[in-house]
Amino acid sequence: MALPSAKPQVFAPWNDPEAKPLIRIEGVSKSFGDFHAVNKVDLDIYPGEFFSLLGASGCGKTTLLRMLAGFETPTEGRISIDGVDMTSIPPYERPINMMFQSYALFPHMTVAQNVAFGLKQDRVPKRLIGNKVREVLDLVQMSRFAERKPQQLSGGQRQRVALARCLAKEPKVLLLDEPLAALDKKLREQTQLELVNIQDRVGITFVMVTHDQEEAMTMSARIGVMNAGSIEQIGTPVEIYEYPTTTFVADFIGTANMFDGVVSLEEQNRTVVDCSELETQLTVGHASGVAVGAPVTVMVRPEKMTVQREKPDPRINCVHGVVSDIAYLGDISIYHVRLESGRKVQVALTNLRHTSEQRLTWDDEVYLTWHPANSLVLVQ
Ligand code: ATP
Repeated sequence: MALPSAKPQVFAPWNDPEAKPLIRIEGVSKSFGDFHAVNKVDLDIYPGEFFSLLGASGCGKTTLLRMLAGFETPTEGRISIDGVDMTSIPPYERPINMMFQSYALFPHMTVAQNVAFGLKQDRVPKRLIGNKVREVLDLVQMSRFAERKPQQLSGGQRQRVALARCLAKEPKVLLLDEPLAALDKKLREQTQLELVNIQDRVGITFVMVTHDQEEAMTMSARIGVMNAGSIEQIGTPVEIYEYPTTTFVADFIGTANMFDGVVSLEEQNRTVVDCSELETQLTVGHASGVAVGAPVTVMVRPEKMTVQREKPDPRINCVHGVVSDIAYLGDISIYHVRLESGRKVQVALTNLRHTSEQRLTWDDEVYLTWHPANSLVLVQ
């Protein structure tokens, strides 16, 4: 008898050389006059993937999404979907649907009529439309609101109707432009997980644009971090947080303490960096791949540091400073420690005990240490 597999299969088609991408973006650029909004982007997105384009305002993520939808034409490069070149295919003939930030529901139509609209336009038989509308409203848990008008719904409910309307047409790809921007924090967090569950059930490829890193980290299989029109790094949430490849990504995703220096020793599993600012050497638990003397940045996340009042021994990766600020966030506290050089470093500690029993307070002298394996060398 075959035993059921203990672990769910890991979804990672990008690691499979045989896997065929659904969306292939090759050398795509977009200029408005002499301004380069999107610059030579190469990106493969796989069937069933939840992919997010993450970046600050103006970095070009919406322009890239609009080129996928066919609302903008690339200045150069090529986009293909399912092996078909999209260059001469108009938006309405692409196997794509786009959910806009504003949801763009028709105010004079009921929820059911809004969802049915696209199907009617496509001349789908009436009987099939009724079934499809019921099915997608069930999926987004909005069946009992089918006869309401959009203005009789909350923001979160409208968002679900907009999603149902997009899903009804069974696109191969759904593009989502800041889909949760209009929702308050609590509802947004709840809706993030709902959206991921729905995407998992329907199996449609989602490409989302967001500037909210938490949202991208929570929802995506992979993230493309954009900066000034280019993609700086593509990776899973864990990869881009734990192993950023550039100082921009390290700084943009979460909080990063970064120390500049030059490589003084390079071995197979170890890099030693001279940091003149800290007047010490830092040891990192991997090879940097650059020559001795090369300028690099050592990155350590705040939660990877330990903090103590007593001088540690031996003192590998140890810096000394004074607590200058404490941000109490409930579950964790962020300690800002001013080093002798004047530079501030952030350390995150989990609040395992009640705050009245806090270990550290303002003006405490502390030593910060971290294991070499918990830091990273970034090449400048
Ligand atoms: P946001 O999060 O603010 O929406 P974004 O990363 O999505 O930002 P885009 O909307 O892609 O950014 O815009 C990228 C750049 O291209 C911006 O500087 C913008 O001003 C410029 N841009 C976008 N559309 C046009 C246009 N039609 N004409 C001229 N410039 C444009």
